[in-house]
Amino acid sequence: MPVKQIKCPQCETPTLYDVSNPWRPFCSERCKLIDLGEWASEGYQIPLSPEPDLWSDELTDDGSSKRPH
Ligand SMILES: [Zn+2]
Repeated sequence: MPVKQIKCPQCETPTLYDVSNPWRPFCSERCKLIDLGEWASEGYQIPLSPEPDLWSDELTDDGSSKRPH
């Protein structure tokens, strides 16, 4: 079974997309961290709720609360 080879999204180094590469699709931990860092800084202005699932359980889409009988 041939191993899929891709280019690292960060530095475009030919990289194995395989379980043997824990940093896939990146070539290295460094590139993965760089990408995560950029993602985090881009999204920094959007406030993130730490526990969104707790609230979505309480409120339906129209804002009414679901109460058990
Ligand atoms: Zn890379």
